[in-house]
Amino acid sequence: MQLLAVSKRHDCSKIQQAIDAGQTAFGENYLQEALDKIQYFSDCQLQWHFIGPIQSNKTRKLAEHFDWVHTVDRLKIAQRLSEQRPADLAPLNICLQVNVSEEGTKSGLLLHELNEVVPQVIALPNLCLRGLMAIPAPAAGFEQQRVPFQQLREALQQLNQQYQLNLDTLSMGMSDDMEAAIAEGATIVRVGTAIFGQRLT
Ligand SMILES: *Cc1c(COP(=O)(O)O)cnc(C)c1O
Repeated sequence: MQLLAVSKRHDCSKIQQAIDAGQTAFGENYLQEALDKIQYFSDCQLQWHFIGPIQSNKTRKLAEHFDWVHTVDRLKIAQRLSEQRPADLAPLNICLQVNVSEEGTKSGLLLHELNEVVPQVIALPNLCLRGLMAIPAPAAGFEQQRVPFQQLREALQQLNQQYQLNLDTLSMGMSDDMEAAIAEGATIVRVGTAIFGQRLT
């Protein structure tokens, strides 16, 4: 399992402390803030993951500067990322974001939409579809927290069977629900507050 340190709204000195402690993978939500940090740490061998909402006019910078994008929630974004990925870089690792709690306000594909989108995404040449990502609605206890994570795990298994894939990534779990996500097989937990403390707003 990989720990993704979510460093949004924390400054470079905090990131440096995490690097000194051995952390190499960082998650960011806001493009310009992320680009500044990527530039600042360009001499370090770090992995940068984008985990924020994506507007289509931002895809070029994402394709040029990131190693992973977790929040691909529609085919059009995947197509643009593939077209805009520079030829000298490895394929961009992506996850499809799933709205597991089926909240109207949340971004993400509905589970039943995956069957239509996945075959088209895996055909894109400059992307590497790695798996699924979700941000479930907050839930009170451990057992309730497990439910959407279990759904996401089962959806990944089903896609692997149906399309004979080896999708290996379940990006799920944050500071408040990471134990439940790990119990359901998270392969990447995205943790901010529990590492860096409260964010500046
Ligand atoms: C901010 C954020 C996190 C980290 O949240 P914490 O509660 O601070 O651990 C994880 N994932 C996404 C998508 C985020 O936006």
